[in-house]
Amino acid sequence: MDYNAYVTEERIEGAEEGRLAGRTVAVKDNISTAGVRTTCGSAMLADYVPPYDATVVERLKEAGATIPGKTNMDEFGMGTTTETSAFGPVENPAAEGYVPGGSSGGSAAVVAAGDADMALGSDTGGSVRCPAAFCGVVGIKPTYGLVSRYGLIAYANSLEQIGPIAPTVEEAAELLEVIAGPDERDATTRDASEALGDGEATAITGDVTDEDGGYDFVSAADGDVDGMEIGVPTELLDGADDAVVEQFWAAIDDLEAAGASYHEVTLPSLEHAVEAYYVIATSEASSNLARFDGVRYGVSGGYDGDWNEAFARAREEGFGPEVKRRVLLGTFALSAGYQDKYYKKAQDARAWVKQDFDEALGAADVLASPTMPVPPLERGESLDDPLQMYLADANTTPVNLANLPAISVPAGETGDDRPVGLQFVGPAFGERAVIRAGSALG
Ligand code: GLN
Repeated sequence: MDYNAYVTEERIEGAEEGRLAGRTVAVKDNISTAGVRTTCGSAMLADYVPPYDATVVERLKEAGATIPGKTNMDEFGMGTTTETSAFGPVENPAAEGYVPGGSSGGSAAVVAAGDADMALGSDTGGSVRCPAAFCGVVGIKPTYGLVSRYGLIAYANSLEQIGPIAPTVEEAAELLEVIAGPDERDATTRDASEALGDGEATAITGDVTDEDGGYDFVSAADGDVDGMEIGVPTELLDGADDAVVEQFWAAIDDLEAAGASYHEVTLPSLEHAVEAYYVIATSEASSNLARFDGVRYGVSGGYDGDWNEAFARAREEGFGPEVKRRVLLGTFALSAGYQDKYYKKAQDARAWVKQDFDEALGAADVLASPTMPVPPLERGESLDDPLQMYLADANTTPVNLANLPAISVPAGETGDDRPVGLQFVGPAFGERAVIRAGSALG
């Protein structure tokens, strides 16, 4: 069946040898590939062919992976259903008739359908974890700074990270090892072992580097959660769908049976996370998307004596309704007179969310919640009600505000066979902790 998961199917061959030789890794269409068009799911970039590779693409090629194509996505990453793409919506291979989640819906769909071995997505407010949860596969949102964003076309750069999507936790960890690590072309990248400092490895996390000095995430995927302490933020269960909550507790029971223990914890700031996220994300988007004016980038608006008119025409024709809505919202939030009321408040809330997570993670190895408060939505359901769509991001967006790592792993299905995902959140550069927790369910 055609899931409409690819925008462009064009093979990019990697090196002959390497740890990913013989395997295919599909790449989200907001990650630059030299010579292969990269559209961001937008009519604005329908003909854009990047002259260079993103760092993660370079690393995939060096590792011998074959890239089978560029995957469909919500326009510029703005969405939770992969229905805002200018190239049409993506079908969910794990629950036909329902959305695959978003915005990396194409990446999760190709993995769920078995059309690619693994895939890369990007996660600004949940876009790796949400589609992984809806399609019944594994997705990791790395700590901010673990993976280079060089060549990722920015939506909201202070929030986003490129992350792996794979059928199993072990394969997702392997792909993360390939793409992670400092990059001189992205000054926000950090070395995980340096960031963690000496003596940070606990019995639960283990050492982040192996004897050769490379990152080691794979050995954490051993399913051993004996002695692990799990915090459950009650705010992330409130308001979640009953069928989702049921699967969540069943998974926690399994973890307990494997030797983990859990306690409930309250993080009052989480109530404000979605609001803060949408103010910050739209503000950054309004600035990042200013370059799409038909002159620097994007379809031409046709100059006829007035540049303002030409820019306006390019943006009117090139952007879809969700992108326009967010550019307007972000421009408003940053405008003189309103900045303190919205943007500054949102930054304060962000700091509070961070602080709440730090405290909770002081008393737990990982935090657990449903990845999404709802099971996959019916196609078309959320398009008329953007606010409803934004609220579905309640459990994923706080993690981006706090710059922390998280994983989504499959945790059963609803009564009508729709996949449910469970999210583990860890401390900064604690990828091994979330990988270990996730692998006990995988
Ligand atoms: N659904 C969120 C948004 O629309 C997250 C998107 C993302 O992570 N790219 O902003």
